[in-house]
Amino acid sequence: MTEKKTEKKNDCDSCALKGSCKDQDDAKECDHKVDRMARIKHKIIIASGKGGVGKSTVTVNLARALQMKGLKVGVLDGDITGPDIPKLLGIEDEKLRQGPDGIEPAVADGIKAASMALILSSRDTPVVWRGPMKMAAIKQFIQDVNWGDLDFLLVDMPPGTSDEPLSVVQLIPDLAGAIIVTTPQDVALLDSRKAVNMVKAMKLPVLGIVENMSGLVCPHCGEKIAIFGSGGGEMMAEEMDVPFLGAIPIDPSICALGDRGETFVQSGTNAGGSFGKIVQRLMEMFS
Ligand code: ADP
Repeated sequence: MTEKKTEKKNDCDSCALKGSCKDQDDAKECDHKVDRMARIKHKIIIASGKGGVGKSTVTVNLARALQMKGLKVGVLDGDITGPDIPKLLGIEDEKLRQGPDGIEPAVADGIKAASMALILSSRDTPVVWRGPMKMAAIKQFIQDVNWGDLDFLLVDMPPGTSDEPLSVVQLIPDLAGAIIVTTPQDVALLDSRKAVNMVKAMKLPVLGIVENMSGLVCPHCGEKIAIFGSGGGEMMAEEMDVPFLGAIPIDPSICALGDRGETFVQSGTNAGGSFGKIVQRLMEMFS
């Protein structure tokens, strides 16, 4: 009995319905989940039509850029089978822990993070789970992680347009919108169009398109080489009537920094400059 009362007090203290809940005098009848999402101002998904286009790289660099502006930021790794966020944030040796107010997220220099990779016993363990189990894990990241008060929660989505990203979107309340990451070649753009249409079909605003791997500046002569083509993302944005946030060039330092668990946004490279403009455009939408 005493135990039940303590449990109820903890739940009510962090519940978004505190003060207005009719069940608060009767712990037995209260089945409200603690509404952790209500304490987060802006929830954004980062999606892509296919894997390998730089979705996770954009997510962590956006998180770092926002955090460097003094904002409180969290990253939810929605990619259960390919959870790369901890590696890119340099916290792959951390683990999520149970605390008095729920699961405590890992923290990477001020950025809170929850990911399947922070639960697995070894970084080489594959997650061979079927859909419902993956969704249960994401649900836990949403409902049970003690995110606290955040300005932004960035959700790195599973790639593609299958039922998996669709289910993730349905699990998160009050999403502000989606950023779609693409590369400029036709095959990626084809899939990205589907991602834009998926987001539109879910009545979610498309905040904008980011064209990644948009040409390579030759370190010797300075000439731009369009390895995967260029400009396709901007054209697609125009055709589909959604904002174009900007382009990021191919830059070997992005790959090297990512592998070391560091972001490039503060690196002073060409790519860092391009990314700064993307962040600026996004910030204007939320000011
Ligand atoms: P996704 O999340 O879409 O699967 P990642 O963000 O994991 O893609 O990126 C895939 C790989 O490409 C990573 O090794 C990353 O460091 C690298 N990468 C991403 N963007 C760039 C870029 N603009 N220039 C060079 N390498 C990049």
